[in-house]
Amino acid sequence: MMKKSHVLVLDTPAIIKGYLQPTFNYTTQLVINEINRIADFDPSYLMALVEVLEFDKDSFNQVKKVAIDSGDFWVLSYTDLSVLALANQLKQQGFFTSVASDDYALLNVANFLGLNALMVTNKKPDFRLIKWRWYCPVCGYKKTLGLKVCPECGSPLKRSPCKL
Ligand SMILES: [Zn+2]
Repeated sequence: MMKKSHVLVLDTPAIIKGYLQPTFNYTTQLVINEINRIADFDPSYLMALVEVLEFDKDSFNQVKKVAIDSGDFWVLSYTDLSVLALANQLKQQGFFTSVASDDYALLNVANFLGLNALMVTNKKPDFRLIKWRWYCPVCGYKKTLGLKVCPECGSPLKRSPCKL
């Protein structure tokens, strides 16, 4: 890939809805696999729309940390995280990087990563950063450590938004 200033990384719904810029549209192989499972796109048509790039482990681990800290980690799929990892890596390579998705959790983490987050649908234009606090509804345990189950009593943790 050549040096370009503005790049766009798309998740599955963004591609299906055709939320593309004229050039420099990127995604991950996991997104392409997901599209192939749920939609009937001609593969050559799809390849003309978006270019598939590899994401690196370091970037993935950074994204994971930020997603755990924001409280979004457990509602994101591995495919979602791959989109963020690729975008994070392109940003670190000096590109002005936008992420297009209709997923609030994905875009929330994108914002925390300093990416330009683009909401594909316009259902709720008042998008804000949210920090989620995870808690145990049974014993009252409260810590956002990226856990899904209470370490004290084993109950599934729930989450609520807290102000930044
Ligand atoms: Zn508990």
